[in-house]
Amino acid sequence: MEWLMAGICWATFAQTPPPPRCGPPTELDLVVIRLSYEVAAEVSTCGRCGAPLGAGLHVLTQYDGRRRDWRISVATRCHGWRRHRHLAVVRETSNELRLGPLRPCARSWE
Ligand SMILES: [Zn+2]
Repeated sequence: MEWLMAGICWATFAQTPPPPRCGPPTELDLVVIRLSYEVAAEVSTCGRCGAPLGAGLHVLTQYDGRRRDWRISVATRCHGWRRHRHLAVVRETSNELRLGPLRPCARSWE
C-alpha cells in the first residue's frame, strides 16, 4: 500500500515543473556525480589497454559565477602500467544532470 501512496504523492509534484536552478552545483549534485562515476569506474575497463579503471577519481567543478550553466570534469586513470587517463564531462541541461561517458584522453602518454 505504501507504493500506491508514494505514486499519488509523486503525481502531485509532477504536475508542477521544478523551479529553474541557478548557481553552482550543490553538495548533493557533487555527491551524486562522485558516486555515479565511482560505480562506473568500478565496472569499466580502460579504452586503451583493458585494465580496470578507478585509480583515483577527481571531480573538478568549473563555474565562474557569470553564467547560469556549469561544467564538471571527472578524471580517473586505469590500473594498467601506463595509467591511461580517462575523462568525463557532466553538464546540467533542463534541470537534469547529464553524465557523459568516461573516455580515454586523446594523448596516449596521459
Ligand atoms: Zn589503460
